[in-house]
Amino acid sequence: MVRKVKIVFDEMNVQESVTYILATEFGLKPNVLKAEIKGDGSGIMILIIEGDQAKADAGIARLEELGFVVKELERHILRDKERCFSCGACISQCPTRSFAFDPVTWEVHLDIDTCIACGSCIDSCSVKALKLNI
Ligand code: SF4
Ligand code: SF4
Repeated sequence: MVRKVKIVFDEMNVQESVTYILATEFGLKPNVLKAEIKGDGSGIMILIIEGDQAKADAGIARLEELGFVVKELERHILRDKERCFSCGACISQCPTRSFAFDPVTWEVHLDIDTCIACGSCIDSCSVKALKLNI
């Protein structure tokens, strides 16, 4: 199964490697979608974690023990396929590249697994086909 989490860290625990811990200690497949680190060493990371649910729970608990603040991200974007005419305007607005043209049909596809619900794409849609699922 796939989990999407936001991890907040400070200068005390930034040295710990989140992806290393999840992969080596718990056999999970973490994928960093986005990371922002401030000058003081604190920051946030958006991760997709693939693997067994119990192991993911254990891995997240381990990160919290180490001082990371972990929040599950369940929000994502919804697209009204009746309104969408695959203009592609939303593609360049998405920091996680969740929209993409199908090279065969030239329809725009949306991968909600990688969406971090930032909302950046919403205003780019002239027919208001996009809204956040909160
Ligand atoms: S809300 Fe839109 S722009 Fe933001 S990650 Fe999701 S699909 Fe991409
Ligand atoms: S901007 Fe709107 S109409 Fe254009 S591809 Fe994206 S969702 Fe579809």
